[in-house]
Amino acid sequence: MVDCIFCKIIREEIPCHKVYESDEILAFLDINPVNNGHTLVIPKKHYENFHDVPDEVLCKMMRTAKKIAPAIFESANAQAYNIMLSNGKIAGQEIPHAHFHIIPRFKGDKFEVHFNSKKYAENEAEKITEKIKKNL
Ligand code: 5GP
Ligand code: ZN
Repeated sequence: MVDCIFCKIIREEIPCHKVYESDEILAFLDINPVNNGHTLVIPKKHYENFHDVPDEVLCKMMRTAKKIAPAIFESANAQAYNIMLSNGKIAGQEIPHAHFHIIPRFKGDKFEVHFNSKKYAENEAEKITEKIKKNL
């Protein structure tokens, strides 16, 4: 996609700090890291949504995440890490090119992963379970 920032990074029209590259996958440092070493894993082909990415490519993204997460963890002297993906604007996806974040974490780093959890009303869990199963 012509105007996509991540596609521009892939075409090397915008510079980045490359961490890892293969035929189909690129991993590079996030320009505004939550913590030092915060890395993005993207497919080289443009797909907007998580569910648009073909299975084989998604597997390669996850394999890449698995390969580089321990190296990021080690290099950043992190205490933990998050692997995250936001799908859709409302979920916080700013760049419409599917990507995983690998975020090194430290106690007290103020990055909040907070579930504003609710309780299911009577029969609601059963209803949504059935709906999801029908839509599979
Ligand atoms: P999202 O909010 O879409 O899940 O994450 C997009 C991420 O891309 C943000 O964390 C943002 O800092 C990063 N980002 C945006 N523009 C650039 C850029 O030009 N270069 C790099 N390396 N990262 C970028
Ligand atoms: Zn793109």
